[in-house]
Amino acid sequence: MMSASDNKTIYVDNNATTKVAPEVLEAMYPFLTEFYGNPSSVHTFGGQVAAHIEDARAKVAALLGAKPHEILFTSCGTESDSSAIYSALYQCPNKKKIVVSKVEHPAILNLGQELERRGYKVETVPVDSKGRLDMERLEEMVDDKTAVVSVMWANNETGNIYPVEQIAEIAEKHGALFHTDAVQVVGKILIDMADSQIDMFSLSGHKLHAPKGVGALYIRRGTRFRPFLAGGHQERNRRAGTENVPGIVALGKAAELANDNIDFENREVRELRDTLEARLTDVIPVTRVNGDVDNRLPNTSNISFEFIEGESILMLLDRLGVCASSGSACTTGSLEPSHVLRAMGVPYTAAHGAIRFSFSRYNTMEDVDLICSELPAIVKRLRDISPFWKG
Ligand SMILES: *Cc1c(COP(=O)(O)O)cnc(C)c1O
Repeated sequence: MMSASDNKTIYVDNNATTKVAPEVLEAMYPFLTEFYGNPSSVHTFGGQVAAHIEDARAKVAALLGAKPHEILFTSCGTESDSSAIYSALYQCPNKKKIVVSKVEHPAILNLGQELERRGYKVETVPVDSKGRLDMERLEEMVDDKTAVVSVMWANNETGNIYPVEQIAEIAEKHGALFHTDAVQVVGKILIDMADSQIDMFSLSGHKLHAPKGVGALYIRRGTRFRPFLAGGHQERNRRAGTENVPGIVALGKAAELANDNIDFENREVRELRDTLEARLTDVIPVTRVNGDVDNRLPNTSNISFEFIEGESILMLLDRLGVCASSGSACTTGSLEPSHVLRAMGVPYTAAHGAIRFSFSRYNTMEDVDLICSELPAIVKRLRDISPFWKG
């Protein structure tokens, strides 16, 4: 068996991916062993599976305050993002402009680069030093040539929450569609689509204790949609390909659990995050908390330990079995500091020393205690050998 280290793993990298909840595994297991039929089959063995897909759809819809037919199952958050944007562009062939934020996930930013190569104009809305969106610039950028606006609901690195309903209204005023990457918010804060203007939003199973390889796209009733994958008639002709039945059942169960745990996330998980942040910034000199601390997800803390390398901190934490992240997992391996912190204008020496701690309901105060007891010495050790540290 693989084993990360001899230590107990302390996993505080839940914005990168999450543990599959035991109840989720239990719910999906029969669909890998016993009920492996194809839901499109005419025979009972296959056909009976289809009802479980609909059951999962109802559970996901319930978590979002949406209607079941507004939920399309996909393979991941990235597929949902791409499907939404390509569909929007197809609906408006005469509009060649897209507006996104500078702090989007690569699933949107790199898609934007690809679209620029294909002749679209992609405008990126800047953020201030706390990562808050420049709403005036956004209003200026969105015009009648804009096919789609896509701004994430919450940022994966800082946890910042964005005013998506307000942005949806601006988009609507100009006849543009509005999509939001909601991968980080689902299961962490309450979402209610009942009175929403949002046209489409993306979510991903593995960010809320379902396995990797399943996601969903919310498509508001009445929003025209063009399939990203052509082929069979699955998902009411909106996404071809045999359904990932175990994954979909898992996402349904994960959504049900998220519904039950939303208060816990906002009380207990927030308490863990706040305690960690307060203790670390109290004990360790020259730190800064990145992001909009009054308006962010309850589970995320992004702290810069200035004048040292985040990567070095992570390596030393890793030896203790602590899994955290510097910037986003997608940029780890490159020495560039995160595009999010750069967009915020975080000084070089602070951006390089940024660590993201992201909690889940499986963390405990013992995890916080261990990190708080080990990290001050790690930071001191690295600063003692840092050419930049003049402490
Ligand atoms: C993880 C993540 C994605 C990508 O989701 P996948 O299911 O891994 O494709 C997209 N957007 C945000 C904000 C994310 O955190």
